[in-house]
Amino acid sequence: MEKITVLIKPVSFVCNMQCDYCFYKDVIKYRTNPVKKMNKNVYLSIIKKTLNHCETPIEIEYCFQGGEPLLAGIEFYKDFIDEVNLRNTVHMIKYSIQTNGTLIDNQWIDLFKQYHFLVGISLDGIQITHDFHRRIKGEESFHKVIVAINLLKHNNIDFNILSVITSHMSMYAKDIYRFYKDMNFKYTQFIPCLPPLGGGVGLKPKEFFRFYRELYDEYRKDQQVHISLFDQIHYLLNGQIDCSCGMLGYCSIQIVIETDGSIYPCDFYALRKYCLGNILHHSLKECITNKIAYIFLREEKEYSYVCDDCEFYSICQGNCKRQNVCMFDEYYCGYKELLKYIKNKEDKHNENI
Ligand code: SF4
Ligand code: SF4
Ligand code: SF4
Repeated sequence: MEKITVLIKPVSFVCNMQCDYCFYKDVIKYRTNPVKKMNKNVYLSIIKKTLNHCETPIEIEYCFQGGEPLLAGIEFYKDFIDEVNLRNTVHMIKYSIQTNGTLIDNQWIDLFKQYHFLVGISLDGIQITHDFHRRIKGEESFHKVIVAINLLKHNNIDFNILSVITSHMSMYAKDIYRFYKDMNFKYTQFIPCLPPLGGGVGLKPKEFFRFYRELYDEYRKDQQVHISLFDQIHYLLNGQIDCSCGMLGYCSIQIVIETDGSIYPCDFYALRKYCLGNILHHSLKECITNKIAYIFLREEKEYSYVCDDCEFYSICQGNCKRQNVCMFDEYYCGYKELLKYIKNKEDKHNENI
């Protein structure tokens, strides 16, 4: 069944937390007059245009993100879902949400349960690494997030964990794996802390490798916690393709819809120059097939000199154009080191079977 995923930003960049590395607040600096909350005209248009995108049944996933999407209020979601239910007759609908977790209470739990939301929780490892960057008005937030996770668990709501690897966090891979295992987390994704678009400091390639190597050593012992990058590398090294955007070195058009209805091709590039159109005035098809989409998909990206004769080039091709700066510099690639490391371990393991 064909699937479309629509990433919806009900409150744009607005958030109750002040993480110092927040890439979406950085992105917003490059747009003028951001609207702070999506109004009904905009989300009705999203619903109508996604439902009309295809006449035959498809799967449509509405994925709410922020900022902190719970700040839109529970009535926003109840009304959104009612409007979908009123209009949809053929498609399979799924809901997901990416949240910092600190606002989840029983009313949200009821909503997630009733409509089978998949909930992504942002948690940066153990307390010391999480609270290092993720604070609410200066206060620690770790325990609030853990309370929310326990509520999700208690109510059997599907959730996964999204963690940002910072330079600080890169020293604690083993502790983090053990903690995630003790917490019985099943699905986790780590993403590198990006430098600001205008330049600055993000995760460094050597930190990238150190973190993932230690994480991999711990993960290999029991493989009880799924780590999305390791799953993807395993597929790639075994000739299979099941990868998230950028793993094979090229972009694909995601559909990111901002509060004012403007549409962008990628969360990292929700910038004025990449605006594909507006859901109030254009169809999804017009947006994803226009000239700006074409330019976004074709534009040049940075490579490392190491890419020139890299043995993994065919399964990487310089990786994601926004995240690769955390993987390599001119003469060193932490991702290549990781691929070599994992390949060696897998080869040795296979020899011993
Ligand atoms: S919780 Fe997410 S959206 Fe909010 S400040 Fe932190 S990184 Fe940004
Ligand atoms: S920048 Fe990265 S995440 Fe965004 S579309 Fe391109 S490959 Fe995908
Ligand atoms: S050097 Fe790194 S980024 Fe370049 S192709 Fe190899 S693994 Fe990919």
